[in-house]
Amino acid sequence: MVDAHLLEKTRGEVTSLLRDLIRIDTTNPPGNEIQAAKYLAKTLEKEGFVCEVLESKPGRGNVITRIRGSGEKPSLLLLSHLDVVAANPKEWNVDPFAGTVNEGFVWGRGALDMKSMTTIEVMVMKLLKRQHIEPRGDIILAATADEEKGGEEGAGWLTRNCPKKIRADYVINEGGGLAVPVNGKNMYTVQTAEKGILWFKVKAKGTPGHGSIPGAADNAIVRMNNVVRKLERYRSNISLTPTVKQFLTEMAKEHKAAMKTLTKLLEDPAAADPVLDELAKKDRALAEEIRAKLRMTVTPTMIHGGVKENIIPSECEAVFDCRVLPGQTTGDAMDKIKSLLKKMDLEKLEFEIIQANEPSESPLDTALYRNIASTLRKFDSHCVVVPDMLTGGTDSRFLRKLGAVCYGFQPMRSDMPYGQIKSGIHGVDERISIDNLVFGTSVLYTVVERFMT
Ligand SMILES: [Zn+2]
Repeated sequence: MVDAHLLEKTRGEVTSLLRDLIRIDTTNPPGNEIQAAKYLAKTLEKEGFVCEVLESKPGRGNVITRIRGSGEKPSLLLLSHLDVVAANPKEWNVDPFAGTVNEGFVWGRGALDMKSMTTIEVMVMKLLKRQHIEPRGDIILAATADEEKGGEEGAGWLTRNCPKKIRADYVINEGGGLAVPVNGKNMYTVQTAEKGILWFKVKAKGTPGHGSIPGAADNAIVRMNNVVRKLERYRSNISLTPTVKQFLTEMAKEHKAAMKTLTKLLEDPAAADPVLDELAKKDRALAEEIRAKLRMTVTPTMIHGGVKENIIPSECEAVFDCRVLPGQTTGDAMDKIKSLLKKMDLEKLEFEIIQANEPSESPLDTALYRNIASTLRKFDSHCVVVPDMLTGGTDSRFLRKLGAVCYGFQPMRSDMPYGQIKSGIHGVDERISIDNLVFGTSVLYTVVERFMT
């Protein structure tokens, strides 16, 4: 374990590294991650690392480096993305791209998602080198482009075009690690699974006519209304994935207010809805988060139809965001959706898939998972560690496809209200405490050193 004194010395270093990264505007689109990739290469090369900057398209930069191991142990990839989502300066209390430091926090777009993790991973690589650690497996660092728009120019591009450069047995990435205060203890999540994404468009057809004689036309908006209602009301079968089962089991032990509900739910998952309806009366956010982890969901997100006040529209389009569980495929989901609508004149409905990413899950029973849990207990002796499934997606899916065990784990203590941390991600006034940068570096360094030596 690296000594506390040394880590305290990194405080200034991680702060300025994160500030520099925030000041490089990598809003995606267009991304322009190349500047950030080159910046990281430069800072790593100063300490003797050999870096590769790979451009998937002009301006779309990815940076990779590695510490070679003896080959006796599995390899580990520290993964992060360099791009961020847009920020509207008018809504913020600080300039989102200034890298402001105030009251012990670094503020700016990417402070949580996920330039802080990039910073921590780069710092861990530097510390390993400074400490002359000789790992028994390769330790790779990759900071990539385009995650916020699906990763096709970043992690996706790398896995397709040069898989050898980033293939690893284990991967640590974003998606977990934040401590949720439960019953006086810190509950840290490790992201071990994520739902798949199926974005699709439905085009409803009709025949136009005068708005004053509705019976003579076939109104596409009315047809779409039936589609939306049918899909919005659809409740798919409940399925407990290994991650969610373990998550709920641990929650049931610790979460006093929800203990009875969760125990009941675990005993009879098929009857989860009325149980969750009860929980929602007390804690709606928790109940709905659990509900979304139990089944495939279909949500209408965009709709467009009609051209004029008095014309009955012959076309109406709607977009749906469907999320599928590990164990299901996006193809199965599309078939199910079409079968739900089959009584509605399918020839008057056209389907178009906008994006489809399959769900993914990594095993919970691994040496790295156990290492993460035992390392966390060294720093926070009463903490609880739980696996978690994201309802959203990360680049981990690309690496899981290559056969890697991927965990989302950016260790963070909750030093501001949990909801505020969550709302900073993709929201306004995103920030991370410098204490958390040091804590994250300490925990991740210790995990990597213990796991790889
Ligand atoms: Zn992210």
